[in-house]
Amino acid sequence: MKHRIVVVGGGFAGVKCAQVLLKRLRGRAEIVVFSRDNHMVFQPLLPDVAGSSLNPRAVAPPLRQLLPGAMCRTEEVLDILPASNELVYESHDGAHRTMSYDHVVVACGNVVNLNLLPGMANHALPLKTIGDAIAMRSHVMQQLEKADLATSEAERRYYLTMIVVGGGFSGVEVAGELNDLLHSALRRYPSIRREDIMVTLLHGQAQVLPEVSEKLRVFARSRMERRGIKVVTDAKVTEVTKRGVVLGDGSKVEGGTVICTVGTTMSALVSRIEARKERGRLVSAPDMRLEGQPNVWAIGDCAIVPNAFDGKPSPPTAQFGERQGRQCAENIVRAVAGEATQPFHFKPVGAACGIGGRQGVAELFGFKFSGFVAWWLWRSAFLAKIPSLTQKLKVGIDWAWELVFPRDLSHFRPAQSQSITQDHYAPGEVVFRHDQALKVLYAIEEGEAEVVQRDPATGMDMVMLTLGPGSLVGEATLSEFEGMVELRARTPLELTVLAKQSLSRLSKALKPVEDLIERAVNKPRISIWRHHMAAMQALSQRKAGELPTSMPPAVLDVGAPLALALRHIVDEHHGCVLVTRGRRIAGVATRSDLLAALARGANRDTPIGEAMNAKVIGIGAADSAAMAAEKMADGGLKFLPVLDADGHPQGLLTSDDFLRFAMAMPR
Ligand SMILES: Cc1cc2nc3c(=O)[nH]c(=O)nc-3n(C[C@H](O)[C@H](O)[C@H](O)COP(=O)(O)OP(=O)(O)OC[C@H]3O[C@@H](n4cnc5c(N)ncnc54)[C@H](O)[C@@H]3O)c2cc1C
Repeated sequence: MKHRIVVVGGGFAGVKCAQVLLKRLRGRAEIVVFSRDNHMVFQPLLPDVAGSSLNPRAVAPPLRQLLPGAMCRTEEVLDILPASNELVYESHDGAHRTMSYDHVVVACGNVVNLNLLPGMANHALPLKTIGDAIAMRSHVMQQLEKADLATSEAERRYYLTMIVVGGGFSGVEVAGELNDLLHSALRRYPSIRREDIMVTLLHGQAQVLPEVSEKLRVFARSRMERRGIKVVTDAKVTEVTKRGVVLGDGSKVEGGTVICTVGTTMSALVSRIEARKERGRLVSAPDMRLEGQPNVWAIGDCAIVPNAFDGKPSPPTAQFGERQGRQCAENIVRAVAGEATQPFHFKPVGAACGIGGRQGVAELFGFKFSGFVAWWLWRSAFLAKIPSLTQKLKVGIDWAWELVFPRDLSHFRPAQSQSITQDHYAPGEVVFRHDQALKVLYAIEEGEAEVVQRDPATGMDMVMLTLGPGSLVGEATLSEFEGMVELRARTPLELTVLAKQSLSRLSKALKPVEDLIERAVNKPRISIWRHHMAAMQALSQRKAGELPTSMPPAVLDVGAPLALALRHIVDEHHGCVLVTRGRRIAGVATRSDLLAALARGANRDTPIGEAMNAKVIGIGAADSAAMAAEKMADGGLKFLPVLDADGHPQGLLTSDDFLRFAMAMPR
């Protein structure tokens, strides 16, 4: 019976492994290749696709063309079960099925980790797949179109500022490519000037391109700067927002595009495989098998493979992935024949990188090259590596075309019907202004926002309204104020962005949603505090827990009898009692709650826990007093419990407390 060898992954490592197996075991083994996509992705050339110097199809050869004779399956492998020599995969119809194997090679690469920093997942563009490169190019073209129509210089510069995070090979290549694309587009966009374009490369270490020698790093930086790219080193990005990035020293770099080339994490499949892992990668034995597994092999970016050449772990690069694929296949052939396997051994040929403007740096076979020669060598090396002749021709023609003709500036907008997205803002950043027509509604998920109005007489900003988690914000939030008003993040702010179009569809189906939207989007929200600007400003400077209150709260445990609650509320004139369970707030009981409980058959001994209203609207002691005032005005509340960070009641604010506060303010 034929051996079945399954390769999971159609990247550099998986394809080379399958190609060598097909050649060496022709007719003697069944080779199955699982890959989510039906094509390989030549990732090192993705910056060229994003920069419009290569057509996406040129860097994505179809697997069936690369692997004639193999069974190519565009299905996702979910798990590997070495005990039964089976793998589990999600079949084309969504069912989970198993397939047995004699040998399995895990070559599934890694995935981009956009959860590295706050806001990164929402606002940074990754570059790992063909889809990422197409989306990036499309985004850049849209920024160019917007910049051409911008009405102010600041706006135009915002659209044309591209921030690239990470100064490794991919970051440098992307920065160079985008800079070339933007500059080559200039003559077609008459209102854009050369100085409006700014590509900024941010790198966390002292020098970009740590993979090459000092001399080449210095060369690369100076050439990039000469071409207008701003290179900032020792710049640790701590936050990515809708308006740009925030650095470790608190400074901000504003720009409409943030590209992230750092951070990877293990794929779901690797996380499920029960084997030793280090830094999110499977630890392979020297011959590339997993420890204690005679027929499970791990190669490429998803594995740490020791290199017998220098004793070091192999880096996650295409060069190593491909070589591991070849040697792993040779070892499988040896294992099938009952021969001893050999450790992975590879002397790297060097590294090369394009830096834009037909310039590059390269270290090949111990020789250093820079400038046009390095760029030409870099492109030739990649052309040679492209695994199919058709693809080689496509890439070669695209590159030759770009040498003579300007880059293609057309773009197709992918269908973007996402109705709910997420936005992140750093403190002080503007979410929207009074003169903007909003197509969305914001729901505050975390943090606080504030409505700020500029006093035309003094030019000072006044905080008119503070909004916390759960608040809905739309155009109407600002329209109740006059003049220059904007909504800003007061603290780090997480917003859920809801497209109005889909909301109106939803509101037709759900009446309560319609009322909610009506209030936030269409009908101005009348805040009683808008006429007490001085009070509102003073309140916004204070914490809710610091406001003087007229009465200490009456607090009862959930098990306390109703009679005790009645005494506090009626005889001692507390408006309500706060009910706790294990000292944490569990509910509130007012006169009407007690009456309703009595009507339901409760008596003097019934525990208050059965009569209370368990939906507590409270405010954190550290939250702003302005937010407390808004919450009370908004909900028509007479009482507002003030809670400490653990949810223990610390005080009770009443509408009288706010009235007293407002009366004491000068008008
Ligand atoms: C922008 C960029 C530039 C780069 N530049 C260079 C460079 O200049 N030089 C260099 O040497 N390296 C470069 N690299 C790194 C290089 O591309 C990777 O090291 C290489 O692609 C790794 O190959 P791989 O086969 O391990 O994984 P990948 O190429 O990532 O392939 C993984 C494959 O596994 C498939 N897969 C994943 N999970 C599953 C699953 N559960 N079921 C089925 N299939 C699955 C995927 O569809 C994919 O086909 C660059 C990478 C990027 C992103």
